[in-house]
Amino acid sequence: MPSDKHIIGILFAVLMVVISSCTPTQQAAAVPVGYTGELAHPKNVILLIGDGMGLPQITGAMYMNDNKTIFEQFKNIGFHKTQSADNLVTDSAAGATAFASGVKTYNGAVGVNAKKEPVPTLLELAEEKHMATGLVATSSITHATPGAFIGHVASRQDMDGIALGFIDSDIDIFIGGGMDYFARRKADDRDLVAELKAKGYQISNFFDDGDIGRLNIKSGHNIGYFTANAEPLPYSEGRDYLVPATKKALSFLDKRSENGFFIMIEGSQIDWGGHANDANYVVTELHEFEKVIAAALDYAAKDGNTLVIVTADHETGGFAVQPGSKLNDIQVAFTTKSHTALMIPVFAMGPGAEAFRGIYENTAIFDKIKAALKLGE
Ligand SMILES: [Zn+2]
Repeated sequence: MPSDKHIIGILFAVLMVVISSCTPTQQAAAVPVGYTGELAHPKNVILLIGDGMGLPQITGAMYMNDNKTIFEQFKNIGFHKTQSADNLVTDSAAGATAFASGVKTYNGAVGVNAKKEPVPTLLELAEEKHMATGLVATSSITHATPGAFIGHVASRQDMDGIALGFIDSDIDIFIGGGMDYFARRKADDRDLVAELKAKGYQISNFFDDGDIGRLNIKSGHNIGYFTANAEPLPYSEGRDYLVPATKKALSFLDKRSENGFFIMIEGSQIDWGGHANDANYVVTELHEFEKVIAAALDYAAKDGNTLVIVTADHETGGFAVQPGSKLNDIQVAFTTKSHTALMIPVFAMGPGAEAFRGIYENTAIFDKIKAALKLGE
């Protein structure tokens, strides 16, 4: 029998051979920025945006939930740089346009570049590829973030203009507030609800048809569901549709196209809690959003061919968990009622998730999703 020393010597030699035979490709896989390894291509992409959700908000929500957070499930994590074309501190319009179209533009721009020219969005590119598409939000569906995936206007204030994007596109399902911008428009006398119905849409709303969870969706039609005439309530005041809306939209899109789907789901009001410097508003909105993430991961786990990406456009409020905080009882301070320039975390799971490691510009989110779904090819 060889001695222990001899065995250790052999093991060491084997180890050296293994280390020295590592290929450049294997080494590159450990370097996430500019990831050039072979990436898997998912059939579906679920993009989840927590508006105004920086690491401080995630941290606060975690400490208010017994030190637990859904984000612990992710292994592929990166950061994006949020600044817009004209301001180190972005707004949601420029931030969402960076995600949706891959261009840095000025604050307030929705689906247009810095020269105010329309730029194609992920949703439009997915439609061109005959994929199914969806938008879900807890704001009006014409608000800056969802609006940037479907509208093309010079100013985010022009929500009547953003609503026209829903007529121009063939989006399969949308759920959110803002029925006024379709049915009671200031810009013109058009009735976009009637126009969508004429295009074959099944349009319903919270007031006439009840909760989204009970809605009977006919899978042969495109779907629009309005949750409010203008902006939906905060979660803490009774709005709780985002989780059932997510489940409804995913089960609908699952059967909608053999080419897969792209959907953007926004937890819109985490940002509004930040603007209000209201810690309870921020945390309750974020806890709801975490349940949405759980529902998306649940769908993706069952499907096996869905890439889930979770990020935010920017941080809001300069939120900080302060000294004196205890588990489930945090002390919070804010530095501003506006946004800040923090880098923002990106969490990804599913085929192609490795591409989201590293630090990159917010516009790279567009590039990575476009490459993952082979859009525009
Ligand atoms: Zn904001």
